[in-house]
Amino acid sequence: MTAADELHERPSLGVRIASFLAITVPFAGLIAAIVLLWGVGFSWLYLWLLLGGYLLTGLGITVGYHRLFTHKSFRTSAPVKVTLGALGSMAVEGPIIEWVATHRRHHQHSDRDGDPHSPHEHGEGVLAVLKGFVHAHFGWFFSRRVQNLDRYVPDLVADPATRVTSKLFPLWVLLGLLIPAGIALAVTGTWMGALLGLIWGGLARIFLVHHVTWSVNSVCHLWGARPFSSHDHSRNNLLFGILAFGEGWHNNHHAFPTSARHGLRWWQIDTSYMVIRLMGVLGLAKDIKVPSAERIEAKRAPR
Ligand SMILES: [Zn+2]
Ligand SMILES: [Zn+2]
Repeated sequence: MTAADELHERPSLGVRIASFLAITVPFAGLIAAIVLLWGVGFSWLYLWLLLGGYLLTGLGITVGYHRLFTHKSFRTSAPVKVTLGALGSMAVEGPIIEWVATHRRHHQHSDRDGDPHSPHEHGEGVLAVLKGFVHAHFGWFFSRRVQNLDRYVPDLVADPATRVTSKLFPLWVLLGLLIPAGIALAVTGTWMGALLGLIWGGLARIFLVHHVTWSVNSVCHLWGARPFSSHDHSRNNLLFGILAFGEGWHNNHHAFPTSARHGLRWWQIDTSYMVIRLMGVLGLAKDIKVPSAERIEAKRAPR
C-alpha cells in the first residue's frame, strides 16, 4: 500500500465508535444537566448566555484566531483585530500569538512528525489511534510549548494591535467570566443569579467551545469525506461544519488554507464565512481571499 492509499483508508470501526463516544458523551451530559436543572439552576436567561457566548467567542476563534490571524484570509482595521482577538481569547485556548504559532505548525507538518496535534502520530491499532485521538483532542494543549515562536509568527509580533491584544489574554479571560455574571446579576438582581451566569455563560460555555473547536483537530482528521488530495488525513465533516461555524470542512481548508471560505459548496454551511462576507459589505473586511472555480476543480481528487 502506498502512502497515498493509506491516507484514503478509513480508520477501523473500533476507532470510529470510540471517538464517536468521546465526542457525544460530553454533549449528552451537558444536555442532561440543562434538562434536569431547568427551572432550578437553569432558565431561558442562562440558555441565551450559554449560546450567545458560544456564538461570539466561537467566532472569535474561527473568524479571528484562525482565518484572520493565522491564515490572513482577509484584511481589517486595528479595532476589528482587537475585538476579534478579545472574543477569541475569551474562549480560553491561549493567547493569539501562541495559538497561531501552534496552528501554523499544524499546517506545515500536518499529520507528520512535528504536528502539534495530529491523532495519527501514535502508531497503528485501536489503542494507538485512541491515544492519538486524546492527544489531538486536548492532550496537545497541556504538552505544547512551541519552540522558536518568532519563526512562525513574525508578522503578528510586528503588529502592535495584535501583540498588545495577545499580551492582555488574562484580562480577556476575566472579562469573559465577569460579563455573563454581570448580565445575570442585572436581570435577576440576586447574587445566586450572578453565580449561575458565571457558571453557564462562563464555565459551561468555555467547555462547549473547547469541545467543539478541538473536535476539529481530532474528528476532522479521522471521519468524513476527502474530496481534495492533500498530504494529510484532513476530512470534511458535516456535523462539525455546522457546530464549529464552518471549520469542519477541514479537507477543503487543508487544500486551500488561505481561503476565507471553508464550505466551498453551496450546501456546505459556513457561518464564519457568512460573517466575513457581512463584514465585507459593512466595510470591515477587505481583500477577502477565495479560490477560483478553476483552482478548486484542478485540486479535486481523482475518483
Ligand atoms: Zn487540520
Ligand atoms: Zn488552518
